[in-house]
Amino acid sequence: MTKRPLRIGLSARIYHPQPGAIGLQSKSLQYLEQSVAHWVMSREVMVFMIPSVSGDGVVHRSRIRLSDYPQYLDGLVLQGGADISPQSYGEEPQHPDWAGDRLRDAYEMELLHEFMEAGKPVLGICRGAQLINVAMGGTLYQDIATQYDNPAVHLHTDYDKHIHGIEWDANSGLSKLYPDTTSGGVVSIHHQAIKAIGRGLRVEARSTGDGLIEAVRLEGKPYVLGLQWHPEFHPPGSTQLLDCTPILDEFLSAARGRRW
Ligand code: MN
Repeated sequence: MTKRPLRIGLSARIYHPQPGAIGLQSKSLQYLEQSVAHWVMSREVMVFMIPSVSGDGVVHRSRIRLSDYPQYLDGLVLQGGADISPQSYGEEPQHPDWAGDRLRDAYEMELLHEFMEAGKPVLGICRGAQLINVAMGGTLYQDIATQYDNPAVHLHTDYDKHIHGIEWDANSGLSKLYPDTTSGGVVSIHHQAIKAIGRGLRVEARSTGDGLIEAVRLEGKPYVLGLQWHPEFHPPGSTQLLDCTPILDEFLSAARGRRW
């Protein structure tokens, strides 16, 4: 009998309707970005977006909870997107534009905890890495440009064309995946960043320009890795960008190990 494909859950991006919006934009939308789904699907993997359960829908009539998902899925990817609310780590937003999305924070933290509780691996991308850090009791810079000394450029209108370097040390998990190098180029676009690191996490990589944390990993089990950059924006075979296939394979290997 052939093995069934892995089933990986993907957290939803959430669009909250703005006042005065009409049509589809007047609705709460939950969606995924094609590039991240397709990146995970570049191996024998089926991807399932997990909609949030809270809100104004009719789901409260059923008994389905987010905690039901890890039983049927082999791992979780936390997508990028909106800022984390400073209230999720005990601060008030210092500017209205930095208020983040507290509803999405609560939904993704619940998902993270349920998958960890089930011993299933989690890969956080961009916002997902920050979410992991905050869930473990860490904090963020609300705004890199004004709160971090001599920052490099981490936010740019070039979006997925904006590249900066990262480096890792010989003791990191990344050094095992990339034994021949200690640095690489990444597409890293974010205006928040990890400040105080969460419990049980260790730094995996830093930005070469300014030392900002660009990746964190949970010590021990389950497998939890957060990448501040966007591996899904790195074309296979690129000479300029870090080939993130080994990272995907490591995550999927952990998922395969947890499959019943
Ligand atoms: Mn960066």
